[in-house]
Amino acid sequence: MVESAKKPGSWSIAPRSERPLAGSGAVAGIDVGGTFTKSVLVLSSGEIALTRRNETAGAGGPAAHVDRIGALAGQLAAKAAGAGERLTALGVAVPGVVDEAAGVARYSANLGWRDLDLGGELSERLGISVSIGHDVRLGALGEGVLGAARGVADFLYVPVGTGVAAAVVLDGHVRRGRHGTAGEVGHVALDESGPPCGCGRRGCLEAVASAAAIARRYAERAGGDVDAAAVLARASAGERVALEVWQTAVAALGATLAHAQALLDVDLIVVGGGLAHAGDALLSPLESEIAARLGWLPRPRLAVAALGDQAACLGAALRARAEGPPEAPGAPPERQTGDPR
Ligand SMILES: [Zn+2]
Repeated sequence: MVESAKKPGSWSIAPRSERPLAGSGAVAGIDVGGTFTKSVLVLSSGEIALTRRNETAGAGGPAAHVDRIGALAGQLAAKAAGAGERLTALGVAVPGVVDEAAGVARYSANLGWRDLDLGGELSERLGISVSIGHDVRLGALGEGVLGAARGVADFLYVPVGTGVAAAVVLDGHVRRGRHGTAGEVGHVALDESGPPCGCGRRGCLEAVASAAAIARRYAERAGGDVDAAAVLARASAGERVALEVWQTAVAALGATLAHAQALLDVDLIVVGGGLAHAGDALLSPLESEIAARLGWLPRPRLAVAALGDQAACLGAALRARAEGPPEAPGAPPERQTGDPR
């Protein structure tokens, strides 16, 4: 059977209207990360009424996680009520392996989840429609509809932070792949004698090129406790170890993205995550690395993500809109206070 383009996980990035965040009632997006939980409340007009960033509390196992996400959704519902609106749908972004159709978080190493029926439990508790999605794919949806890739049908969204991953958008759809792992480039081993990776293997892209890996590899050789931004600053000042660590990371990332480009021929690569704060200091050498490897093949444009760490929770809010009730007729014009654009 040919899969429908509307199948969850193959989301269209074509805006539903001039006001993609507008609709009937308020919706919320919550992005449960390994370190921070980001949330957003969107009113019927499309106005972003609230954005929040809390540390993700780890204690108590999956049941406590569900309790805390439910409590946060309750606070967002109260905020919506304060604005005279009812929370009608919630989207939740989670890392790891996600079965969007079933609403189940299959596996997340960072959060300690396995086969967690997050969608079902939250929907029962809150009495509203709850959709769940993979954080990187929802980030791509956010950037595709509201951010750096607006109007682009074929692009990669590549957040480089604690880890490295990618989401693949082709023909205007965020692709899930056969097993829900399309774009998982972070744990492909580039050098089996390379540094150990959190996944238990060696030489993965993530073990060399993530912001965390850059900081760790520098500290191993030069000592001290610095983050990737400090390593870049030292590399720019000509410090040899910093330069080697940084260049190795950019070369590994460039090699992977060049292969991705050869396979997919996208128009644009949007780099997000903590490392994207480096801006041109990252994009410029990365562009050169990719170009050198591609030779005569067409090169993608590179851009820094526009939505920062809000991309996935805005993507989750967009999914909540898509799966919630249809827009009420005669809705007021969209006001975009706190518009991420
Ligand atoms: Zn790995």
